[in-house]
Amino acid sequence: MPLGLYVHVPFCSAICSYCNFNRGLFDAALKTRYVRALEKEIARAGCQSPVAARRSADTVYFGGGTPSLLEPGEIARIVRACEDVFDVAADREITLEANPETVSAARLAAYRAAGVNRVSFGVQSFRDEELRRLSRVHGADRARAAVREARDAGFDNVSIDLMMWLPQQGVAQWLESVDAAIGVEPDHLSLYLLEVYPNAPLKDDMARARWSQAPDEDAAAMYLAAMERLEAAGFEQYEISNVARPGRRSRHNLKYWTDGEWYGFGCGAHSTRSGVRSKNVSSTEEYVERIGRGLSATTTDVHRLTPEERLGDALFTGLRLTEGIDLDAIRSRYGVDVWSRFGGDLAPFVDAGCLLRNGPRVRLTRQGMLVANEVMAVFV
Ligand code: SF4
Repeated sequence: MPLGLYVHVPFCSAICSYCNFNRGLFDAALKTRYVRALEKEIARAGCQSPVAARRSADTVYFGGGTPSLLEPGEIARIVRACEDVFDVAADREITLEANPETVSAARLAAYRAAGVNRVSFGVQSFRDEELRRLSRVHGADRARAAVREARDAGFDNVSIDLMMWLPQQGVAQWLESVDAAIGVEPDHLSLYLLEVYPNAPLKDDMARARWSQAPDEDAAAMYLAAMERLEAAGFEQYEISNVARPGRRSRHNLKYWTDGEWYGFGCGAHSTRSGVRSKNVSSTEEYVERIGRGLSATTTDVHRLTPEERLGDALFTGLRLTEGIDLDAIRSRYGVDVWSRFGGDLAPFVDAGCLLRNGPRVRLTRQGMLVANEVMAVFV
């Protein structure tokens, strides 16, 4: 399978109250140095293998943070750096995560010209009061306009992120956002559950304003109802949190769920190749400084996965897909009969209707997706 290339962009124009990602406030001078460091890190990946061994890659994913704070010219330079080192397939998928308030029709057209062919908007909600509670910068109208502008710029692959189980959100409010998302006709949607971290400012905001999250059973109802509506609108669920129109699944993210390999560039980025997992230093400043001094972007965070860990990962991530795991493929790759090894622990989930075994495949049912963590715990 060709490699995936992930490029982390850690800058945001404001920090959302729930955010737990590796990001910081936008700083123009630091961004300039950061882009140069990214180019160097990517070039160095080429030095690690001779030109004859150039590896093929077919996806580049700009994630963040807010990658749409990089100028289109900077994105083009990074894409070129990738092409200099990797055999980037002609039918590549190049995704840019974008926040609605950072784009315009002209800027999106410039990203398109820079090689980006998929844009993923962090919309989160189509209800302004919910967006304000999350301290997001954009409003629902700006999100709608951003999707229109992407279409005008020629993007035929547009994704939207939505978050459910927001403070003060009930099933009806959530479904308003789902319907609004269907209304703007994206090609792909990712639905995430809000997790309120103990040190998130949102936790204090919630305590102060006496906001609460709906009971667990409502969260389950939100998920199930959204999936039903999206399917009725022509989307196919292909992963626990992701739906797409036919032919519009995220090729990059599928590498994470199908035992693929990828390079991660930038601060805090993870790589997994040839059974070795590594993580770059998290701090943006430290990353830029290390790369500038000719040092590796990783310090000690390098781990050779044991065969057991590789097997556990393949099962754990494969089960996220609606098509589930191919037990024959696992046996030929890892030499393990999954059912003999784990069947005893998995049987109660089969009996409860959470897991389906059909020939060589085993997969979660939709009901099973609600208790996915419990099922996956069998493998780790
Ligand atoms: S835009 Fe995304 S990465 Fe940036 S602070 Fe908000 S949630 Fe975090």
